Amino acid sequence: MTDEGYSEFDCDLCGSSEAEPLTVLQDYLNAEEQVHVCKNCGFVYVRRRRSIERIAQAWSKEIFQKGYTARIPAVKARQTYVADFIDTTIGLKGKTLCDIGGGEGQFLEIVKSAEYGAEVFAIEPAPQNCQMMTDAGIANYHGTIEQYIASKESRKFDVVTIMWTLENTQDCRGMLNAAYELLKDDGHLMIATGSRILVPFKKRLYDYFTKNPVDTHCFRFSANCLQGLMAVTGIKMVEVNRYIDTDYLTMIGQKTDRSQEIDWQGDSWEKIVGFFGRWDQETRDHYPQD
Ligand SMILES: [Zn+2]
Repeated sequence: MTDEGYSEFDCDLCGSSEAEPLTVLQDYLNAEEQVHVCKNCGFVYVRRRRSIERIAQAWSKEIFQKGYTARIPAVKARQTYVADFIDTTIGLKGKTLCDIGGGEGQFLEIVKSAEYGAEVFAIEPAPQNCQMMTDAGIANYHGTIEQYIASKESRKFDVVTIMWTLENTQDCRGMLNAAYELLKDDGHLMIATGSRILVPFKKRLYDYFTKNPVDTHCFRFSANCLQGLMAVTGIKMVEVNRYIDTDYLTMIGQKTDRSQEIDWQGDSWEKIVGFFGRWDQETRDHYPQD
């Protein structure tokens, strides 16, 4: 594993190096893998990560090519939910919208439909996905968000969306700063992710942590910590969905000029550790085992 080039990271949200490992996960991770909770702000993150390029490669070459496709009903359902949530909150008709990590373009097909009427664009690193979007009439840039911003064709958007992608980068702050750069003044950022922390248990802890290398999913967001990540980026939260009994956490924020700090509070790390302990115990007792 050493030639994979791992580095240790401090808390992405507050910068603290004080972190508690979630020992309840030891049965579910490989021997050298750990997930930590920041003892200052309660953010759940993986400290030991490979390079940003190596993790991106793991997603595009090792995970997606095993046959993953977003064209399944469960994914379409959550994309439709998010499209409707954005439209209800800030309106989509006639707005320019950029999806970071556009994937196969299915979400953009929904928001550019007559029902929502947005003018869509995608930034996507996987060439086969770009081809699929081009074939579907969705304008896109093949490359990373940093490459797009540095390119001559770069422009700014009314709405930027990050759909189940922020957790899968090595650098969530970098992705959010790039999203900030892509937004027009007063533009809106929408982040959607799975909602599993400090909400009712909906699956076994085992099912939440096995399968892919732990650093392909470096971050796990509670609503407070996601609001915090927006705040430290200069994005003020304006709406969050009813995540407590929904499978999704969907948050919309508005770009500020960064002249004033935005309040955020994070979570108590003891509460997070206790939550994971109860999650494991209660789902072991009540959910069917394989
Ligand atoms: Zn922290």
